[in-house]
Amino acid sequence: MTAATFKRGIHPPESKNTGGSAIEMIYPDKGEEMIFPVQQHLGAPCKAIVQVGDRVLMGQKIADSDAYVCAPIHSSVSGTVKGMTETVIPTGATVSAIVIENDGLYEESPDIYKWKNNERDGYDKLSRDTVLKIIREAGIVGMGGAGFPAHVKLNPPKDKKIDYIIVNASECEPYLCTDNRVMLEEGERLVSGLRIILRLFDGVKGLIGIETNKPEAMERITKITANDANITVIPLKPKYPQGSEKQLIMACTGRQVPSGGLPADAGCIVNNVDTVVAIDRAVRRGRPLMRRVVTLDGGAVRRPGNYKVLTGMSYDSLVKAAGGLKEPPAKIISGGPMMGVAMFNLNIPVIKTSSALLCLTGKEAELPPERNCIRCGKCVSHCPVGLLPLELNMSALANNDDLFVKNNGLECIECGSCSYVCPAKRHLAQSIRSARRRLLAARKK
Ligand code: SF4
Ligand code: SF4
Repeated sequence: MTAATFKRGIHPPESKNTGGSAIEMIYPDKGEEMIFPVQQHLGAPCKAIVQVGDRVLMGQKIADSDAYVCAPIHSSVSGTVKGMTETVIPTGATVSAIVIENDGLYEESPDIYKWKNNERDGYDKLSRDTVLKIIREAGIVGMGGAGFPAHVKLNPPKDKKIDYIIVNASECEPYLCTDNRVMLEEGERLVSGLRIILRLFDGVKGLIGIETNKPEAMERITKITANDANITVIPLKPKYPQGSEKQLIMACTGRQVPSGGLPADAGCIVNNVDTVVAIDRAVRRGRPLMRRVVTLDGGAVRRPGNYKVLTGMSYDSLVKAAGGLKEPPAKIISGGPMMGVAMFNLNIPVIKTSSALLCLTGKEAELPPERNCIRCGKCVSHCPVGLLPLELNMSALANNDDLFVKNNGLECIECGSCSYVCPAKRHLAQSIRSARRRLLAARKK
């Protein structure tokens, strides 16, 4: 099968330095204070349902809300609630958080294992509503970065006929290797999770889109799905931003999501690799979402690798547990270098959507000075959405909102491809992102 892809896009250096590093579990120290933000998802924030002084168990629900678009938060350790605080999260937002002192015992909550017999009793007999309820109660969100609650995504409006469930295994961001490792080490769980999702819809097919720069993972998943007529592995040409939902849908199905629409408008639902594995863990074994795999990389890191980390543990603890730093980082990024968020320090908790932590040296973080546009058109010819980044940049800098909207600035997926290819090193994506977010926030109000 020839490898599929989408139109335009870029080819940044892959820097998949940790692709050969097996996932390593690391634990926080006994007595360490774990920080659990009450919002780790898109939608309504949760409210704490524990009090200062309470003893909590691992897997216990500690924050929830009645809102539909919301996902509860669980403690990843047993210990004592020490207080309530505010913390910056890897998206850059500041939110309320619960502080729990880890007693190092990892005593499991009986509540959360109430579905643990599903594996023994046949989880495939569970009704659609029960499966969605388990996914909701387990606090599962899109773990690729967006954090959209999974029970909402998997329950589209009745008038949207879903034809394809797509697993986003493209992992096109430089440095990131967690999906690759999860496919190699937990491939059966991934396929099992996809089969659980497929049972929620009539006449739906499963597609797993994997870039061809991950040949071992592709071979492994192809082997596991060889006898499953309902699941197809789609080889994808390595290109950025292939992991963006609309581009992935185009590459895997040839379908276009309408302007302003959602994947369901094109008959598709896209889920990230870790999310599908988390669904398998929740439905078959009753496990809530309280750990995730994080790629730790960058020239300042002593031991780059892929680490399974408990949510609530700080980036600082993660780095220390992984051998510390060789030198103070000149730049810290939560996520990949293209779409990640720059952080001021490492006192940030790992949350459900933390896919990577990069600690870059001065040389790695160096940015050439911004110069005048030379009207070369490169930003236009590489924009995956077909926008005019140079025009959007000018309207954003001039605060000309009408022109920005007229030029479809709100359609920007903030991928950074335009800035990457610009020979004048103009901060195109940065200015477009700021204008877009300001306008969206105003509309929401
Ligand atoms: S304008 Fe937006 S979508 Fe287009 S390349 Fe720039 S950041 Fe990406
Ligand atoms: S790529 Fe840079 S220099 Fe070329 S047209 Fe776009 S903004 Fe101008």
